[in-house]
Amino acid sequence: MADHKKRFETIIQKLRGNGHKITPQRLAIVKILAKSEGHPSVEDIYDQIKGDFPTMSLATVYRNIVLIKSLGEVLELGFPDGSNRYDGNNPAPHPHVICIKCKKIVDTYLDSLDEIKKEVAEETNFEILNHRLDFFGICSDCMAKKG
Ligand code: ZN
Ligand code: MN
Repeated sequence: MADHKKRFETIIQKLRGNGHKITPQRLAIVKILAKSEGHPSVEDIYDQIKGDFPTMSLATVYRNIVLIKSLGEVLELGFPDGSNRYDGNNPAPHPHVICIKCKKIVDTYLDSLDEIKKEVAEETNFEILNHRLDFFGICSDCMAKKG
């Protein structure tokens, strides 16, 4: 996991550098994205800060995430049911493990990933630019609850 403070500063600098004002709401959203604990959804972020900004709408949070995503500073994990989750702590593509019961999402680091990319490139003659690799399962907390 990258340093929260460094990620926070990087995102803020990128916003400033592209001429975007840093409003208190934006600051609060970036703070959560820099940590991205548990890979929050737009609703998760909204729930965490709506107490501090009662007039702020869910759409404002969404627009800010779209903006930060357009600057390449947040990774979007899209799902067919529209329940997108975000990682602003590490915006580079990386594999995830997803619990199908509680929807927990955790990072995983695979030494073999570079090897797999090379294999895919060789097999298909593609230049691989990006990847999306999700593992689905049941987390240890949910396994324990099964009893
Ligand atoms: Zn779980
Ligand atoms: Mn992640």
